[in-house]
Order: sequence, then C-alpha cells, then structure tokens
Amino acid sequence: MANLTFQYLPCYTVGPDAYERVPEVCAKYGKKAVAVGGHRALAAAKPFIEKAIKDSGIEIIDYVWYGGEASLENAEMVANTESYKNADMVFGFGGGKALDTCKYACAIIDKKPLFTFPTIAATCAPASAEAIMYYPNGEARDTYQCGRPAEHIFINTDIIAQAPDLYLWAGIGDTMAKHFETELAARDRKVSFKQALGVEIGTMCYKPLVKYGAKAIEDCKNNTSSEELEQIALTNIITTGTVSALVGVTINSNIAHSLCYGLTVLPQVEKNHLHGEVVSYCTLVLLFADGQDDKVDELYPLYKAINLPTKLSQLEVTREELGPVIEKALSVEDINFVPYKVTEKMLYDAIDKLEEYNKTH
Ligand SMILES: [Zn+2]
Repeated sequence: MANLTFQYLPCYTVGPDAYERVPEVCAKYGKKAVAVGGHRALAAAKPFIEKAIKDSGIEIIDYVWYGGEASLENAEMVANTESYKNADMVFGFGGGKALDTCKYACAIIDKKPLFTFPTIAATCAPASAEAIMYYPNGEARDTYQCGRPAEHIFINTDIIAQAPDLYLWAGIGDTMAKHFETELAARDRKVSFKQALGVEIGTMCYKPLVKYGAKAIEDCKNNTSSEELEQIALTNIITTGTVSALVGVTINSNIAHSLCYGLTVLPQVEKNHLHGEVVSYCTLVLLFADGQDDKVDELYPLYKAINLPTKLSQLEVTREELGPVIEKALSVEDINFVPYKVTEKMLYDAIDKLEEYNKTH
C-alpha cells in the first residue's frame, strides 16, 4: 500500500443568491445536468435554479424523483434513467436521504460529478463523503464510503428559511454534540495532523449555535433568511461535514450518541422524538459526566430559548425506565472511545445532576 494521506474537504457557496454561481462552478464539468431529489425539494428549488442557469449554457435535462428512501434500489433506479445516463453531472436537491441516494449513485453505480443543493440544514449529508443507506422498508442497511464529498455545495438560504424550522432545530441539537464528543475522544490520545485539525475546527460546532441559534430558529419560523440563519446552516452542514471528514470514525462520537441509542430503546423516544433532539439532551449528560459544568452553564440558555430538552420528562422518560437505556448505552462501541471507563454510576449521577440543575436554573 502506498505511504500517503489525502483529504478532500467540502467546498461551498452560501446565500440567498447561492445558485447564481452554478454556471461559473459547474461549466467545466459539462453542459447537461440531471436534477434528482425529493418532490418538495425539487419544487422549491426549481424556480431558483432555472433562473440561475438561464442563458448560461448549462441546462437541466430532467427532474427525477429519488424514490423516497435512501435505498440501493432507488439509487439503481435513478442511475438507470435515460436522463441520468445522458447527463454530464448530477444536481442533488433535498435532505439527507435524497442526497445520500445521489451520492451512492454518483460514486458507486455510475460515476458522475455530483453537486449538492441542500433544501434543509439538518445534517452534514450534503457535505459528507458517506452515504447512509436503508432497505426499501426503511430499515438501516449500511454506510458506504463515496471517496470524496460532492464537487461543490450550493446552500440557498432563502430555501432553507422556507423549510420547516424543525429540521434546523434538530440539526442544532445533533451538531451541538460534535465538539464535545470529538474533544473528549481525542483527549490524551496521539492523533494525526488531520484529526487534530478536525478537533480544533470542532469548537465551531457549538460556538455559533450558542451565539446565533435562537435568532436563526426565529427567522426560520418567519421564513426569513438572515445572517444568523446562514451561520447556523453553515454550522450544521459545513462545519460538521468538515470535522467528520477530518477526525474519522474513532473520534467522531461517544457518550452523547451512545446514550441517544440507549434512549431510543424506549418506544416513546423512538416514536416521538428526533435524533438531534435526543442527542442534545445527551450532550448535557456528557458534560456533567465529564465534569464540564461551566459548559452546561454556557449551553443552557440556548436550550431554554429554543426548547431543546434539558430533562428526562421532556423526552417522556422516567428515571425508573433507565435500566435498559444505560445498559444499551454502555454496550455501544462508541462509548469505548472515551479516555476513561464510562460506568453505569457515572451516567446515573450525571442524569440526576442535570435533573437537579433544572430545578435551580
Ligand atoms: Zn447524530
């Protein structure tokens, strides 16, 4: 094996007029693009993208629905359309599932340059080099490495502002964990250049959230794009995507995500609460478990302002139900990426401390 390291990082354009740069960025890849995405995403983005490419020499030859699930079958279906085969490049529109379908088709089935156009700002899917795929019935299947992220990411903040604020809200919750989990996993460990770079960049996964999160949610509720909304869209999409790409899987997640997987053992959590929402609660538990009380003080006002959960009852969970939750959390492999042994007592104590904290704050 060759002795070398390489790294692709996400490139992006952001703003209400982000699509205006499509001709300039995409011209060298060809003239014909096929747009692939969800029904709602394609409908929302079509007027913007058509206006942006008018008279530019780039043409969208077809709009193709991705099939509704990020499945290998749908990726095959997309790649087998005449328009996909005839296109020089693929424009993917939508959220994680649509974009992961495009990523799988473009990297693994029939190689084409891919450009992503996220229409919500919930996850790093538009910027990551992985496709998280499912079976057609929605059951999780596997994560596939695509080798590199999309050629370029076009983030139209007017479109993100029009999307339901729930996506942005859950995205904030999930993004919040990234800095604290990566910092914890990398602590006292010998890390590579790029891992160290990723951990440093990771502070940008929570600082803009604390500063701009509440205003961004308010703006999204009012369907107005703003400087704050742009900061949060970039944090949820670009910062998380960049950190994940740099740090790799062993540093990516631990206590917050393990406890989240534990909590989703309970049917009411699995059914009624979003991943990012549950992770946000678990991040506070991580901070108390790790003795970072000052960080809880720093995050708590944001949680209250945008109504992220800070106590068990907000997730419809009682302390008596925690047995299988903690057991599952401690069995997730991620939990071993902490520099000390995480114990049952440690998690119970942190959860109890957080319940008490709620009573006094
Ligand atoms: Zn997550």
